[in-house]
Amino acid sequence: MDSTNNITRDFIRDIIDEDLKTNKYKGRVHTRFPPEPNGYLHIGHAKSICLNFGLAEDYGGLCNLRFDDTNPSKEEEEYVQSIIEDVRWLGFDWDDRLFFASDYFDQMYKYAVQLVKDKKAYVDDLNAKEISECRGTLTKPGRNSPYRDRSVKENLDLFERMKAGEFADGEKVLRAKIDMAHPNLNMRDPVIYRILHATHHRSGDKWCIYPMYDWAHGLEDSIEKITHSICTLEFENHRPLYDWFLDNLDVYHPQQIEFARLNLTYTVMSKRMLLELVEGGYVDGWDDPRIPTISGMRRRGHSPAAIRNFCKRIGVAKVNSMVDFEFLEHCMRDDLNKTSPRFMGALRPLKVVIENFPEDKVEEFEAIINPEDPKAGTRKVPFSRVLYIEQGDFMEDPPKKFYRLAPGREVRLRYAYFVTCKEAIKKDGDVVELRCTIDPATRGGYAPDGRRVKSTIHWVSAAHAIDAEVRLYDRLFTVEDPMGKKDTDFKEFLNPNSLEMLTSCKVEPALQNLKPFDRFQFERLGYFCIDPNTTEENLVINRTVGLRDTWAKIQKKQQIGK
Ligand code: ATP
Ligand code: MG
Repeated sequence: MDSTNNITRDFIRDIIDEDLKTNKYKGRVHTRFPPEPNGYLHIGHAKSICLNFGLAEDYGGLCNLRFDDTNPSKEEEEYVQSIIEDVRWLGFDWDDRLFFASDYFDQMYKYAVQLVKDKKAYVDDLNAKEISECRGTLTKPGRNSPYRDRSVKENLDLFERMKAGEFADGEKVLRAKIDMAHPNLNMRDPVIYRILHATHHRSGDKWCIYPMYDWAHGLEDSIEKITHSICTLEFENHRPLYDWFLDNLDVYHPQQIEFARLNLTYTVMSKRMLLELVEGGYVDGWDDPRIPTISGMRRRGHSPAAIRNFCKRIGVAKVNSMVDFEFLEHCMRDDLNKTSPRFMGALRPLKVVIENFPEDKVEEFEAIINPEDPKAGTRKVPFSRVLYIEQGDFMEDPPKKFYRLAPGREVRLRYAYFVTCKEAIKKDGDVVELRCTIDPATRGGYAPDGRRVKSTIHWVSAAHAIDAEVRLYDRLFTVEDPMGKKDTDFKEFLNPNSLEMLTSCKVEPALQNLKPFDRFQFERLGYFCIDPNTTEENLVINRTVGLRDTWAKIQKKQQIGK
């Protein structure tokens, strides 16, 4: 299948098109997403997932989910499960192609023996420090290890004994025999096996030697008959080694292609740093809504469709760059606007008594669930004598451009009536209650005499409202690039106000029917979702993103600047 009618174009698709033309892989397109199960996935991984699974979809090919579990010390089953859940949630499927690099350990060992037999690998007794000292620099060639010329027989014997557990961690390694003067440092006899007496999450204690990334990765791709092995730019310098291993073993050889990793402003993306935040208690676990893990974003209310769209729109390039966090939010609003049911809620409630509305009377108004989606229908919103509105929608002494409620002023209560404020009741200097009246002739929100009001505000009937806790999130860091200052720990830039908890919010009763992770809009306030910590007694709501589109503003400014 060709991709000519697909709008997405990029250099990777150009390469694939060319390969299809020349029949390099007999018309196949087979990619993989290869996470190491040493942490939770983040939005950077989502870019790679969307790219790899997306290519398979666009070209009618296949994409494997493969755990690159070659390092037993940092890997855990919990991470495997979370990764599976996250890739699925993003909307991708690997059928029966779920693989583990650890399942290839036997085959990888055989390949290593083959290299030894071909005089292309040797057992070295130097320790890590000595190896690095012999390595040379970019301008200076390295030195050969004194153990480099061991016989094949001795190497086979030692390698087997490494595997059998005769040596301690670090006592010996297996190295490829390439060229200690190679201009590319990765080619200077890289280590391919190390001794590590550690229990592996899958293979248990079967192995005490573990393959190094560069050795293992190409073999995994080759075994799975991957066609295009897509990775991030840091691996560009490793490609000669990827190719050397596969060429020298004379096995099936995929093409490694590098693209720029995703960086986002005001956040950190590396699993190591995210782990530091989680373990240090700076955030509330891997699914804290402030961090850019997929599980954090899910809990915050981000939608898979929006993440996929974001990844598509940022595209793939060969140069590293920084994407504005506001752009992610812009993509989020785009999707949430189309898909979210609307509700009303007063996050900082102010009591309003409608003096001319009877105490025991309840009216119901028909409210639109989603103006962007007529099929979503309507809901009923109860109205009674005592309401809550948003504190911010009233000012006792309003400045010129404040059009919302004020003493003596008339505004519209969304879906209901025109309301006029008669009096503000104060306690200790704060306004605690408003006494108002409605105009019964404006039922439904329009005046028969054609008179207009300058604003519409949201409200909740006090007798019917549900109490809720609402968590408002701000950026986790105060600077665009928290990793950018070399001498400063990124944690120094943590935003102390990244979480604001509002505990006595009053929300519309219809919210009762929502489940954890359900997304919705509070009219005039933003997009929200139900937090999984919600219980029967305590409704917890997360704000995903506000309504105001700062990205659109940035773009406008940029256009004006042009
Ligand atoms: P981190 O640096 O966050 O620890 P990693 O690259 O070590 O990430 P892996 O589990 O090895 O994490 O990554 C799996 C795949 O995801 C790799 O192919 C990797 O290139 C890709 N990937 C990781 N981070 C990003 C990113 N920021 N942008 C795009 N792709 C990424
Ligand atoms: Mg990694």
